[in-house]
Amino acid sequence: MVLERPGKPLQLGEVADPVPATGQVLLRVLACGVCRTDLHILDGELTEPKLPLVLGHQVVGEVLEGADRFAPGDRVGVPWLGWTDGTCRYCVSGRENLCDGARFTGYDLDGGYAELVAADERFCFPVPDGYADTEAAPLLCAGLIGFRSLRLAGDAEAIGLYGFGASAHIVCQVAVAQGRRVFAGTRAGDEDTQAFARSLGAVWAGDALAGPPETLDAVILFAPVGDLVPAALRHVRKGGRVVSAGIHMSDIPSFPYELLWGERSILSVANLTRQDGEEFLALAPTVPVRTEVEAFPLADANDALDRLRRGALRGAAVLVP
Ligand SMILES: [Zn+2]
Ligand SMILES: [Zn+2]
Repeated sequence: MVLERPGKPLQLGEVADPVPATGQVLLRVLACGVCRTDLHILDGELTEPKLPLVLGHQVVGEVLEGADRFAPGDRVGVPWLGWTDGTCRYCVSGRENLCDGARFTGYDLDGGYAELVAADERFCFPVPDGYADTEAAPLLCAGLIGFRSLRLAGDAEAIGLYGFGASAHIVCQVAVAQGRRVFAGTRAGDEDTQAFARSLGAVWAGDALAGPPETLDAVILFAPVGDLVPAALRHVRKGGRVVSAGIHMSDIPSFPYELLWGERSILSVANLTRQDGEEFLALAPTVPVRTEVEAFPLADANDALDRLRRGALRGAAVLVP
């Protein structure tokens, strides 16, 4: 499925098979998760994609041609971070997620909404056994970014997850296993999602803008809704953190300084490091994280994206070629 131009549906078509460069593996795509970032690229909110582009950065694939690290037949995952320069100030200080020259899968590099993909093997992960291909796919961005967000939320005991989709449904399970209490914020009246959150251990689920009945230690925002920033600041105690996990958000309305006062902080989470991936993929089977996925044939990618846009998914959408 090819993005020719932002704002237009993806086109089903034949493209030339990717030819792996030195250090790349060639993969047969087994499953590819659909991420909200894909929607932001499709809608033109992220403005510099390679074009034409194959979206998709939660790729589970079988190695057809190996390089050094992987052998044919291995099952590997390809995440958003596809390449870094290794030399900029961020790379040399352990923050490759902020690399000045980074290339991202399904944005700068062709991704996994396809039958084949080539990827730099240094940025691929072995996929933990015990997960079906479709179940593993959402771990690779929804899980990884959620895990990084949870870490940046600090030692919060009472934690809000606002926007209860693919990422929050994974983070909720990790947070509950760590002994935290999860407060799930959804769109007002979205009772299905609220029930889903409670089924995964959330102690409260309700309208995110109105907020829970008690003050929280931290809130992670997964919904790309700027109005949630001042709302979440209202819901956290002194010293509390509001962590925005998404790559794009609607404008944040102005708000009185008193909402930030009291050493409350707002921060964003950008991308992932390979270390995040290794740690999270080791942790997930021990929780154990169970992903709820809805599988779509690759040709129905536009339908899957539309369902994500409308909030009409339970858990994560995954494409299967
Ligand atoms: Zn993503
Ligand atoms: Zn760098």
